[in-house]
Amino acid sequence: MRLDRYLANLQYGTRSDVKKMIKANRVGIDGQKVRNGSVAVAPGAQVTVDGEVVGGSLQVYYLMNKPSGVLTANSDAAQKTVLDLIRPADKRPGLYPVGRLDKDTTGLLLLTNDGALGHALLAPKRHVPKTYLVTLASPLTPAMAQQLAHGITFQEFTSAPATVVVRPASGQRLIELTIHEGKFHQVKRMLKAVGNQVTALARVQMGPLQLPPDLAPGHYRSLTAEELGQLL
Ligand code: URA
Repeated sequence: MRLDRYLANLQYGTRSDVKKMIKANRVGIDGQKVRNGSVAVAPGAQVTVDGEVVGGSLQVYYLMNKPSGVLTANSDAAQKTVLDLIRPADKRPGLYPVGRLDKDTTGLLLLTNDGALGHALLAPKRHVPKTYLVTLASPLTPAMAQQLAHGITFQEFTSAPATVVVRPASGQRLIELTIHEGKFHQVKRMLKAVGNQVTALARVQMGPLQLPPDLAPGHYRSLTAEELGQLL
């Protein structure tokens, strides 16, 4: 990526602001002062402004507890997005949410600028399991559970057999549902298809990643080395 774009993406100002910074001899790459904004920043390069390293590591992996009421999108003219919850110092060029949770869905969301990993996690062939804590409008009957576990046919796909675990003492209204696809509104559509209705939805697991119980809604943290190792 060009140096001027790299710095603009890190919120150092507009492209023309950062061009002025570069011309003023304030910017370096790997210890060398650079006077031209079109120079490429190679992956792993260390960029400095006034001698301070900026951008940190090039690739970042954030695990967020998405709050309700926020769009899973990079930007939106009118509504708050998950990217708006990322502190400016943690933003990186190309940072995006991996997969989509509905505006009213909460829970585990991975954000990264590692496009290859993001694509791999979403690839239909990988069937990465996702577990949701689902609050239901009415008790889940054994027949409903059986249909979910068997797979449900929609116009564009048939869901792979899902795992259903009913939370004890919930009056059969709180279930953990593990699915293997990531279709639009999939959990809500599956429950509707069996004659029930979702009243609250939270993702608690995606592949090896679990929602940390101490991560408050709207907060995020970097993946640990162990979590990242399990994903790669
Ligand atoms: N299924 C849904 O219906 N909504 C989500 O946000 C995620 C899975």
